[in-house]
Amino acid sequence: MKPSTENKNDVKFLGDMPADQFRKFGYELIDWIANYFENVEDYPVLPHIKPGDIRKQLPLSPPDEGETMEKILKDIDKIIVPGLTHWNHPNFMAYFNSSSSGPGILAELLAAVFNSNGMLWRTNPSSAELEQHTLQWLRQMLGMPEDFWGIMYDTASVASMHAIAAAREQAGINVREKGLAGRNDLPKLRLYASEQAHSSIDKSAITLGLGLESLKKVPTDDEFRMLPDELDKAIKEDKKNGLLPFCVIATVGTTSTTSIDPVSNIADICEKENLWLHVDGAHGGSAAIIPEMQWIFKGVERADSFLINPHKWLFHPVDITAFYTRKPEILKRAFSLVADYLKTPEENIVDNYMNYGIQLGRRFRALKLWFTIRYFGVEGLRDRLRYHLFLGKEFTTWLDAYPAFERMAPVPMSTICFRLHPKNINDENKLEELNLGFFKEIDTNSEILISHTRLNGKYVLRVNMSGLRMELRHIKKAWEIIKTKAEEILTKL
Ligand code: PLP
Repeated sequence: MKPSTENKNDVKFLGDMPADQFRKFGYELIDWIANYFENVEDYPVLPHIKPGDIRKQLPLSPPDEGETMEKILKDIDKIIVPGLTHWNHPNFMAYFNSSSSGPGILAELLAAVFNSNGMLWRTNPSSAELEQHTLQWLRQMLGMPEDFWGIMYDTASVASMHAIAAAREQAGINVREKGLAGRNDLPKLRLYASEQAHSSIDKSAITLGLGLESLKKVPTDDEFRMLPDELDKAIKEDKKNGLLPFCVIATVGTTSTTSIDPVSNIADICEKENLWLHVDGAHGGSAAIIPEMQWIFKGVERADSFLINPHKWLFHPVDITAFYTRKPEILKRAFSLVADYLKTPEENIVDNYMNYGIQLGRRFRALKLWFTIRYFGVEGLRDRLRYHLFLGKEFTTWLDAYPAFERMAPVPMSTICFRLHPKNINDENKLEELNLGFFKEIDTNSEILISHTRLNGKYVLRVNMSGLRMELRHIKKAWEIIKTKAEEILTKL
């Protein structure tokens, strides 16, 4: 019956799913999830489907009447699972892994239940304070000093964009009021990152109205690390030409090879030139929680801001980015705008997170950081990352011992770039063709998922070991598959 407003007695309470149904299907779903993780290896890591295969199974219009949960859950198995790329699969060795852990998943469930919007301290004091507190825990784990203030954003891309916006604010050119367009009182702004920096930096330049031309890609050495002398030279040249340098991005763990920029040397230059230094440690930065790996963060303590992605290498469900800055007041100056309806009595004594970014509403992400750190413990997380470093070393040893493979970059963490390079082929075009075919063979016919990149213009294959469910046996199997495919190709040659 539809609610009628004419007669109050006709108005029917509509409400949510009844508690008994929620309980029944909640238990069912938790069982389903536990079974999924127990059997995740039985799924193909990459689905065998074509574009459009999922949509053609879905009705063109939404249902007028509600459907049963039985029917909805059945479609998970029938339609959704066959179309999943299984990031939790231990044979997922592509990109940077983001595998989710039990405690992270349970925390996400609770976050959805509370569904509180942490835009202001008042709109969810627990979220605001847990966010501050867990970020301070994580800062301690990373060995970073106390003057770093933290905030959670969704992705590394968005966090870096906020860093660059804060850097622009620091440059004192009043973009906040006047914008950039149509101004003849402004020189061209200049932002620096290495040739190996993530494409999100380019996207920030686009989004912030700086334009791609404002991003200077600094050359790297033969280990794909930014050359500080080249940075210094570029800044001097730009200044001579009337440009306004304002920000440098260093990367700890670049996307292709996990190379580590010399942050201390870059910090020297930034301090001398008064430029904002932001460090992108999206994937690799997490390794700094291991005492013997803390060297990778040398110099980051002098940065103006840095980030890591717990959703990459600390087993959190996507998304969560931990962003830190020593200059929260500048970030706030760039973004704070308090509409009258958002004013609160305690605004002078609390951090209202809405003031530190473009979004107003925010998820309760701190719960998953709290659950995950507490459940595994700092030592438990360190041991898991250490194991991945061990897996990376094992794979590298096997690869280096096999003459037809050429390793294309050092392996400071657990990401390995290589290509097939038979002794008798040295023509780069032929090698490219050979490796494109090699990748296709692995991608279409096998049980593992790897990715590719380009280094010094050369097409290379790339494997990454940072999945929570990865064991030595999976790496051994992956190596067997890669080696066998290579041998098949070499025999045909
Ligand atoms: N920075 C680096 C170094 C990355 O490797 C990546 C993704 O792999 C990103 C940023 C972007 O991460 P997100 O997907 O969280 O925006």
